Amino acid sequence: MAGYMGDKSNMVVHHLEMMSTDCKIHDVEKANMHYFVPDMLDQARKENFVPCKYCNETKT
Ligand SMILES: [Zn+2]
Repeated sequence: MAGYMGDKSNMVVHHLEMMSTDCKIHDVEKANMHYFVPDMLDQARKENFVPCKYCNETKT
């Protein structure tokens, strides 16, 4: 199972294990879902996704 899922409509990446209702993941259309290889936040960042503030720990 994937750990991270990107929403291409707003370029936000969600951490699925930590997701909250504020993420509105159920509103993400399948066409906008994006998964990462490798399945890591660093990879999401490389693809210009921004970590969701609700489900990702803040890292600087
Ligand atoms: Zn989220």
